Amino acid sequence: MPNEILIKTIYVADPDLASQTRPETCDILVRDGRIAAVEGAIQAPGAEVIDGEGAIAVAGMVDTHRHVWQTAIRGVAADWSLVDYVREIRVGYATSYTPDHIYLANLVGALEALDTGVTTVCDFSHLMNSPAHAEAAIQGLTDAGIRGVFCYGFYDVPTRDRGFDSHDERLRHADEVARSFRSTAGPLLDFGIALTEFGLVAADLTDAEIDVARRHDALITLHVGTFGSPHGIADLARRGRLGPDMLHVHGNMCDDGELAQVVASGGGVSITPETEMQMGMGFPVTNRLLSVGGMPSFGVDIASNNGGDMLTQMRLALQTARAIDNQTVLDRGVVPDRIRLTVRDALRFGTEGGAKAMRLGGEVGRLRKGARADIALFSTRGLNMMPMGDPVAMLLLQSRPGDADTVLVDGAVVKRDGRLVGVDYDGLRQRSNDAFREIAERVEKTRDDMAGSSSAYSKVMKRATGTAS
Ligand SMILES: [Zn+2]
Repeated sequence: MPNEILIKTIYVADPDLASQTRPETCDILVRDGRIAAVEGAIQAPGAEVIDGEGAIAVAGMVDTHRHVWQTAIRGVAADWSLVDYVREIRVGYATSYTPDHIYLANLVGALEALDTGVTTVCDFSHLMNSPAHAEAAIQGLTDAGIRGVFCYGFYDVPTRDRGFDSHDERLRHADEVARSFRSTAGPLLDFGIALTEFGLVAADLTDAEIDVARRHDALITLHVGTFGSPHGIADLARRGRLGPDMLHVHGNMCDDGELAQVVASGGGVSITPETEMQMGMGFPVTNRLLSVGGMPSFGVDIASNNGGDMLTQMRLALQTARAIDNQTVLDRGVVPDRIRLTVRDALRFGTEGGAKAMRLGGEVGRLRKGARADIALFSTRGLNMMPMGDPVAMLLLQSRPGDADTVLVDGAVVKRDGRLVGVDYDGLRQRSNDAFREIAERVEKTRDDMAGSSSAYSKVMKRATGTAS
């Protein structure tokens, strides 16, 4: 007997469907982990039935850039620039995590993603302070039950108790993790590589990091067009290293020619509008990427700064791109008479765009027959959803992240009736609060130690920010 779930009476938020001011409901049939049908009044006698009660169904959203480990230190970056961030987190907080801390951060961060209908995440994990940190980070994602790519970072966190003696040792360890990944991390996760920023390490070390990834056909993600690596794309192109296996993040300082080089290479781009605009990285490249033929995708970036839902990022990216477009018209002394980007575009970038950028196109990111059944149902019972209008417009601009009521990953229900299945919320809250306090205490102690021997600290800061400190 096939394992079937019949989701009844839902509106479909599908970017390919035209706007509907008086939408009609339909059903979705899930069979053995895949979407078997999306149509009106499906009959499936043996199936488990989920009554959608007029919820909006959307393909599980895809976050293409998140440092999930920062979930353990929520809110610390709220008023920070990128320079503050580098100093306080990459040189401060990052030195103070134990393996237990990164496990908990990844567990809670991935659960929070699922809770808001984000079913796939690209985890840029540059907190590999020891082999045990890597194991714990992967276990946190696995235990949460999220789909995604765990990207092993080589960034040399300036800890006092060094878990690796050299960059070569990190490379060897990444190779080992990649080889055993499938058997340890489970079927929903893939192994990837998070490159160290150009400028922080020599070019031959970057090449060595890329080589580890390519030996395993792993996704390679990297920060580009931002601090430490303003023209990393041009550098990579010159050295013949660009490829369709690369997911480039931010790119704000890249010129249009570099963005075109990324598009020509087949690589993806992740835009994180909230952190980019706050921290002084520059305007998101959404419009510029589209103008050279690319498809954007979006990321949350850091829970140390902002929440883990993707609706917020899609909204911010859409309205910022519209503002930039409109301003070019206003600058000519003319009032804009049409809006170029639509809510359908933003939804497509946050689902299908993310899937393509992570090399999962066709598998996830669409509510289509044959795709993996990663589905979120957003309740329409709240005052904010009365009256029900066009499902895509309602989802993008009216719904709240907490409206995600039911979530499926690979055909399994991970959230039902507004609660994640099998999750001890009170227990996690207690453990998270304890971990945050422990990390903060360790950061203070590190700061005191470093003040006593400030030369090491200054050296790291100078290298990280390109400025004397
Ligand atoms: Zn990042």
